[in-house]
Parts: sequence; structure tokens; C-alpha cells
Amino acid sequence: MDYTNLTRAQLIAIIDELKILNDELLSEKEQQVRLDFAWSGNLGHWYFNVKTGNVVFNPLKVTTLGYCMDELPEQVSYTFFTDRLHPDDYQRTMADMQKHLQGETDVYECEYRIQAKDGDWKWFYDRGKVTRRDAQGKPLFAAGIVFDITEKKERALKLERENKLLEEATTTDPLTRIRNRRAVLTELEGWLREARNASQSIVVAMFDIDHFKVVNDTRGHVFGDMVLQITANLIVGNIRTEDIVGRYGGEEFLVVFPHTECHSAAVVCERIRTRIAAYEFPDGLKITISGGLAEYRGESVTALIDRADKKLYEAKESGRNRIAL
Ligand code: GH3
Ligand code: MG
Ligand code: MG
Repeated sequence: MDYTNLTRAQLIAIIDELKILNDELLSEKEQQVRLDFAWSGNLGHWYFNVKTGNVVFNPLKVTTLGYCMDELPEQVSYTFFTDRLHPDDYQRTMADMQKHLQGETDVYECEYRIQAKDGDWKWFYDRGKVTRRDAQGKPLFAAGIVFDITEKKERALKLERENKLLEEATTTDPLTRIRNRRAVLTELEGWLREARNASQSIVVAMFDIDHFKVVNDTRGHVFGDMVLQITANLIVGNIRTEDIVGRYGGEEFLVVFPHTECHSAAVVCERIRTRIAAYEFPDGLKITISGGLAEYRGESVTALIDRADKKLYEAKESGRNRIAL
């Protein structure tokens, strides 16, 4: 700014303004030094004397934990905080600080839980830096800020839990707790994409309970529901961990056998069929299932399932309680 053409009054006004600003900055600086700063919200500030292990901080860092400044000793060691770290966060937090003290990271930055006086866990976001090192580069002093992020963290965790439940609800069949039709089809789509690129073999099997209507008609729908649940469990119990099963429709189950040749899938399907036929359901009920197999030949999901369905129809037509391939 060019001050040469300004009047005396204008210059005095500018000087006054600068003086006020300067006073303001100085008092702010002084408050910071005394750690008395009117920290907005939930921000705390700490200084760490690496040599003595003592920490100096503004009250917020401990009032959040339910302590008063008066009940703390004059010199507070960093162990006051680290002793209260959550066991799951302890190693990570200490390692992060060590890495920074040893000069491996530019800043120390960490999220951890500390146990409050009443036993509750509080989440903190902590960020600091070594501000002074000795001639050999050894850390002497570090300073940082710490936020109480408990509320934010709990909101995020709640949201995560809700999302998980929501995802489960959209992919799980509520009756049998196995995948629903949409989920099994989505996963099949993924497997087919992989098989197309890596030219791997995949087999799908469509199972359908024989004469299930009779079960409902003679023993009621609630009983029928239970039979569906048990049947789903029997299928799950007889496939390998990589195979997936979903409830495709009312009493129809779709099984996907990734990385599997048709003859191996047929062995598994045959095992499922015989186990179900041998199983004694409540009230001494016996049921059978029929199944149709189709090996992937590069077609669409719908076309592949349609082939398995046609085979299932063949199995039904030729007497039920059998697998057609
Ligand atoms: P098929 O051997 O030809 O398959 O004969 P089916 O009686 O099993 O076949 P159909 O398609 O005639 O009947 C299927 C029955 O499955 C009818 C329907 O009420 C029953 N069902 C479908 N979904 C459910 C369900 O969620 N719970 C119960 N209890 N029954 C169901
Ligand atoms: Mg049926
Ligand atoms: Mg059916």
C-alpha cells in the first residue's frame, strides 16, 4: 500500500487498526502459551516433553475423560493416557508415536479409544509433531492437538452396523437365511465374468422339492416353512465352502459350483439328493428333491439357468428324486 498520499488522520486510523490487530494476536499467543485458549468445540492441545515423559495439556484433554485438573498430579506422565488406551488400540497407537519419534513419519496421527473415569470408552483423533530435536536428531519436544471424536465415531459405527444389516436384508432370504434370488444371481454373474476371462468351468444346479404342495396341504404352511429351512441347511451342509446356494423361488434352490467340472458337481448334487431323501424331518416326514445341472458354455446367466431348469424338468418328468445332466 502506498502511504505517501494519505492524510495524517487516515494514517492514524490505519495505525490504530494495526495496533488493535497486533494486541489481539499477542493476547491470543499468550493464551495459547498458557494453554488457556478458548478452544472451540472439542479440541484439546498437548505438549510432550520426550525426555521427562511429562505432558502438559489444556483441561479439555482430561475433562472429556471425567477428570478435573485438580485431581491430577502436578506433573502428568504420558502413561496417564497410554495406561488407559483400549487394548485393541494400544499397540497401533504406541507404534505410530514411536515411528514418528524415530523420524519415520512427518507427523504422528492416530485414532484411539481411552477409558474415561466412569469406564466408558472415548474416541480421540490425535495429531502431533516433534517440534524440537537435539544435535543428534533425538526428539526433545512434541506438540499436538487432540479431538474428542466419540460422537462422530459412534455415529459412523452405528451407520456401518445399519448398512451391514441393510445389506444382509437385501441379500438374505428371511426364511432360510441363505442368499436370496437377487444375491445368488449377482454372485453368479461375477463368477461367469471371471470364468469367461480365465476360461474356467462353472456348473449351476437347480433343485426343486418334489410334491411340496402336498406337504403344505397336509401339514400347513408353518410346517412347510420349517421343511424349507431344514432343506436349505442340508444343502449348505453338503456343498464346499466355495460353492454358493440361494433360494431361487418358493421351494427351488440354485447352487453355483465355481471352478468345477460337470462330473464333480454331479457327485455333490447326488450326495445332496440322497442325504435329503434319507433325512427324517419332524413328524417322520420324508421328502425328495429333483435337480438339473448345466455347465457354463459362455452364454448369459438367464440362458444358463434356463438350461439347468430344462434339465430339472427332465428329472421331474422321468420320475423325480433324481439329478439330470
Ligand atoms: P413338483 O414335484 O412338481 O415340484 O410339485 P410341487 O408340489 O413341489 O410343485 P408346485 O409348484 O405345484 O408347488 C410348490 C409349492 O411350494 C406351492 C407353494 O405353496 C409352496 N411354497 C412356495 N413358497 C413357499 C413358502 O415360502 N413356504 C411354504 N410353506 N410353501 C411354499
Ligand atoms: Mg416342487
Ligand atoms: Mg417349484
